[in-house]
Amino acid sequence: MAETDNDLVIIGAGPAGLTAGIYAARARMNVLLLEKAVPGGQILVTDWIENYSGFPEGISGFDLSEKMKTQAEELGLKIETAEVHSLNLAGEVKEIILKDRSITSKSLIIASGASPRKLGIGEDKFMGKGISFCATCDAPFFKEKTVVAIGGGDTAVQEAVFLTKFASKVYLIHRRDKLRAEKILQERAFENDKIEIIWDSIATGVEGFFGVESVKIKNVKTNEEKTLKADGCFIWVGILPNTSFLNESLKTDETGFIQADKNMQTSVPGVFAVGDVRDTPLRQIATAVGDGAMAAVSAEHFIENL
Ligand code: NAP
Repeated sequence: MAETDNDLVIIGAGPAGLTAGIYAARARMNVLLLEKAVPGGQILVTDWIENYSGFPEGISGFDLSEKMKTQAEELGLKIETAEVHSLNLAGEVKEIILKDRSITSKSLIIASGASPRKLGIGEDKFMGKGISFCATCDAPFFKEKTVVAIGGGDTAVQEAVFLTKFASKVYLIHRRDKLRAEKILQERAFENDKIEIIWDSIATGVEGFFGVESVKIKNVKTNEEKTLKADGCFIWVGILPNTSFLNESLKTDETGFIQADKNMQTSVPGVFAVGDVRDTPLRQIATAVGDGAMAAVSAEHFIENL
């Protein structure tokens, strides 16, 4: 094989990427982790994590990501702030193209995560003016105010409960008559007097002059339309993979999540996918961490067999 800059490049510093980095550093691989923003990924905007083993009292997303990052760096992992523009995976050497240069590697782990899905109800107009995807960042702006939260998954229900620490009223709008979220999260929402769940309903628009003033909703069973007066609107209707740099170089599912086998191997030998960007039935910190460990060991075996 031609000379390369690295044995392994990891794209993304969420729990999956950082864990891959920890295993690769301990295997004494020449490894570089690229992160376009702050290490931590989506857990950085998670207020409190209660289902990651080893933290019976829970831990803040910020503290957990700091611990993972510190552990990886103390083992020698190099973390660089850089955004990946595209990949060239045609040859044996993997080429990672950044804004101003490209780097090469024998193997690659993609841990670029996912971002909140939009609904097209005014996100661009009201972003920073009442529409938000992040309760940890924006909930304090809604002290004693009324907010709408949209979605029925873990994120929407967990964050709706978190919002009640600040807001006086939280409408949770869900398109069905059953929540998808973990049962323990559902129980907390049902028991919370500040949360009113509006079932079988979708949000059809957000209105306001300087900022959000109301959210229009529609019952999908009766077609009845209503306007809820609200100062804020939090949207948590799922996630989309961060794969704009892929250019169809890897096999994905119909939504764009990267397909990989039990060793995290993608459709291109030596390229692995881990965490939320992978086509996986369960997206948790615990599974992301497992993916990262598996991929680093797979990358090590791949290089040994070159
Ligand atoms: P998710 O599990 O995909 O749930 C998305 C929710 O939005 C669903 O309730 C879905 O309704 C609803 N939805 C989707 N499209 C919609 C639309 N166009 N209009 C209205 N509603 C729509 O997404 P998530 O809650 O963001 O979670 C992402 C992943 O992270 C999941 O795997 C989740 O388990 C994980 N996560 C875990 C935790 C935790 O363990 N505490 C916390 C956060 C996230 P339907 O139910 O009808 O499909």
